[in-house]
Amino acid sequence: MRAGLSDSAGGERTHGPRPGSVVVDAQALAERIRQLAAAISSDYAGRVPLLVGVLKGAVFFVSDLMRALEVPCEVDFMAVASYGDATSSSGVVRILKDLDRPIEGRDVLVVEDIVDSGLTLSYLLRTLRARGPASLEVCALLTKPERRKIDLPIRYVGFEIPDRFVIGYGLDFAERFRNLPFIAELEERGG
Ligand code: 5GP
Repeated sequence: MRAGLSDSAGGERTHGPRPGSVVVDAQALAERIRQLAAAISSDYAGRVPLLVGVLKGAVFFVSDLMRALEVPCEVDFMAVASYGDATSSSGVVRILKDLDRPIEGRDVLVVEDIVDSGLTLSYLLRTLRARGPASLEVCALLTKPERRKIDLPIRYVGFEIPDRFVIGYGLDFAERFRNLPFIAELEERGG
């Protein structure tokens, strides 16, 4: 692991939570995103998908993914807050920022950073389905299958990861570490 890079990217922390072992490095991220984009481009040939990025965690993923797509596409964003404690969601979700435009008749692809229990995504899908899209699919960069409480149809998955709290490439801990160019476990370290 490039300890120097992760330390400075995370803010020169000498104690407290910091990036631990790397779960997905930058090269593996880029390669997998190319593969996902190829699959999406072929599945959506002749259509113009609307990518719905879920803020803030999915910003890097949606921007890299859409640049690799070979079909014309559009993007919109939603921000949701899920009630619960720091590490588990309750499934009760509040929309902080809604889509700018209606999605009726559109081919909507929800782009998520990580699906954990699945409760947040389940709520989001119910809300979006009620708006009458022509199709509604999900592309999640990461999933933690061990933690899933609801069976969800996730059409495109980047990586299945073990039940660990991860940071980087958009994912935060208390708003920090989103700018790491790789995904790492969060390491708690006293100091
Ligand atoms: P769910 O409703 O599926 O349990 O929770 C999904 C949300 O919880 C994600 O969109 C993300 O914001 C947050 N989350 C779940 N697991 C992790 C993790 O390992 N790291 C980070 N940074 N956020 C997570």
